[in-house]
Amino acid sequence: MDKVQLEERVKELNQLLHDTGYAYYVLDQPLVPDAVYDQYLKELIGIETEFPDLIFADSPTQRVGGMILQGFQKVTHTFPMLSLSNAFGREDLDDFDRRIRASIGDDFSYVCELKIDGLAISLSYENGLFVRGATRGDGRVGEDITENLKTIRSIPLRLKKPITLEVRGEAYMPKKSFLTLNEQRMANEEEKFANPRNAAAGSLRQLDPKIAASRNLSIFVYAIGGDGEAYQLDSHGQALDYLDDLGFQTNKERQTCHSIDEVQAYIEKWTTERPNLPYEIDGIVIKVNRYLHQQELGFTAKSPRWATAYKFPAEEVVTKLLNIELTVGRTGVLTPTAILEPVLVAGTTVGRASLHNEDLIREKDIRIGDTVIIRKAGDIIPEVVAVVIAERKEELPAFEMPTHCPVCESELIRIEGEVALRCVNPQCPAQITEGIIHFVSRNAMNIDGLGEKVVEQLFREGLIKDVSDLFTLTKEQLIQLERMGDKSATNLVAAIEASKLNSMERVLFGLGIRHVGEKAAKILSEEFGDMKQLAEATPEQLIAIHEIGGKMADSVVSYFDTDEVRELIGKLESLGVNLTYTGKKVDLSNLNHVLTGKTVVLTGKLEQLTRQEAKEKIEQLGGTIAGSVSKKTDIVIAGEDAGSKLEKAKTLGIPVWDEERLIEELK
Ligand code: NAD
Repeated sequence: MDKVQLEERVKELNQLLHDTGYAYYVLDQPLVPDAVYDQYLKELIGIETEFPDLIFADSPTQRVGGMILQGFQKVTHTFPMLSLSNAFGREDLDDFDRRIRASIGDDFSYVCELKIDGLAISLSYENGLFVRGATRGDGRVGEDITENLKTIRSIPLRLKKPITLEVRGEAYMPKKSFLTLNEQRMANEEEKFANPRNAAAGSLRQLDPKIAASRNLSIFVYAIGGDGEAYQLDSHGQALDYLDDLGFQTNKERQTCHSIDEVQAYIEKWTTERPNLPYEIDGIVIKVNRYLHQQELGFTAKSPRWATAYKFPAEEVVTKLLNIELTVGRTGVLTPTAILEPVLVAGTTVGRASLHNEDLIREKDIRIGDTVIIRKAGDIIPEVVAVVIAERKEELPAFEMPTHCPVCESELIRIEGEVALRCVNPQCPAQITEGIIHFVSRNAMNIDGLGEKVVEQLFREGLIKDVSDLFTLTKEQLIQLERMGDKSATNLVAAIEASKLNSMERVLFGLGIRHVGEKAAKILSEEFGDMKQLAEATPEQLIAIHEIGGKMADSVVSYFDTDEVRELIGKLESLGVNLTYTGKKVDLSNLNHVLTGKTVVLTGKLEQLTRQEAKEKIEQLGGTIAGSVSKKTDIVIAGEDAGSKLEKAKTLGIPVWDEERLIEELK
């Protein structure tokens, strides 16, 4: 960007931050997630640091947070209520630590606290009596919300000592109260609150204290106004203990740390434990402990130099939508995919996200060229949450789905009752290749070395037209493919040959019959034992099987009812592909293993076993694999980098095994 463009961007950012800040601080109805606001602010600070002449008087970096709401008395704070500088990762923490050491040397400690996601409150006491409570406002002047604060039970109306002081704390709404409140609001057709912070702020800025009283708010007090020396205190840690003695509620998870590594360990601990807390936190606050050191370090215009707020990695970020790509799947369904300017979110780079279907694109009004909010929480697949309409500078055309298949050009059909558009041409090359890719995939025929690219090439070169052609491929043919060496070709031929011995359920699942997933393929194979028997089955015979419904029965019958399919099955058989069930039916009555009859969820990356191996072994012992954690889950097996499923298991108190334990039990 040249200087003129930079200035444009700065003006844009100022406007965006002003608009989103107003919605957040005044209306308590944020327009964008916090992480997105932080991302804009970071971008602005970056430019302003490099080009100080681009700092405009109305820049949001020049003032502390909020604005004052009309309707309440104004209160001038005795000590300004400042904000905190932010740290977004280890590098920022190291910088913070280095600056402190450069100023006060190495002999000091930090106090780490949870950063409660609520709103800053100041409470004033005279001779031990609560006389006034105020919001932070713009940092200098806040709003008098004494009557509302009096409804919070954890705010003492009288202290244990008759002293005069001002304290600072964070008023918050516990997660449970937040959920109940939003349920009520939905039932009353009122707008939901975006998060507990906004719900707490909205409750405390009601003119009628009865409303605040009904909202179950609480408070953690985290500091004495000023530095507390007037009370013969020497450090922040001491002040927190003193606040406890006076009868305030402070947060007990605080910890003194003597190095930035210890701080990091505290952060890591709470990054994992965070979901189990009954209130929301959005980071960790790190403060230099002794007042003497705090005084030496001093303040900037906006925040103390002796403290910083570490923010948890963003699970939501903004990026540009470069294109919407359409792919035709194995069943002919057209799936739109967002092609994004690659962006780091929750630790991984995201460049694509499924948009699922046309309805979703229309509902969210997603247009190519838009700035979009992407979310990726834990091990969840990235999704496009919303468009930042404020960033749509020019009119962009609404996205239209095509009327014809982008691959075979036949007309697209929308089946009644379905949202998806479908290509129904059975000869569509995209469907055929996707079908073959599915056939060779790990949970079906599991043919190693036959990736998507190889299948696409084979199809393009006319070497395969359907799955049966795979079994006639020769090494000489394979060698001619791009990036296929002698050794890979030999291995691939061997892998294809070996796959002929697979048990029937793998072939059946691989055929990709609608509604027949892996589990159904197994049940059908166990029941019929042979593909030919299954091909002759009547709908009544199929429905009679436990777990097979009408929809699936119809689908199986109509699949085998065509000449092409009969021909295909005949070809597979003549090429030596096993079409009988060779697995053993698991007889639960003979099994007595810890896993027998248990519902098991696998999550995270396993090191020694593949997922498929683990699954098969557990099933052989009479266990069932489920995809998600619920109260019905008996055991969760968590590999490396396990995410939300592991957290949920912990919340529900479900036993969690690591891979070692699983292997031990399987012996
Ligand atoms: P901040 O939230 O980054 O940090 C300062 C605040 O942390 C303090 O004022 C205090 O209220 C709080 N805090 C919690 N626990 C604390 C503890 N133990 N010790 C000290 N302080 C503690 O800064 P800010 O200026 O209050 O506000 C910025 C926040 O508001 C950011 O999180 C930002 O994302 C959000 N915001 C969001 C939008 C939006 O549109 N979504 C708009 C404006 C601001």
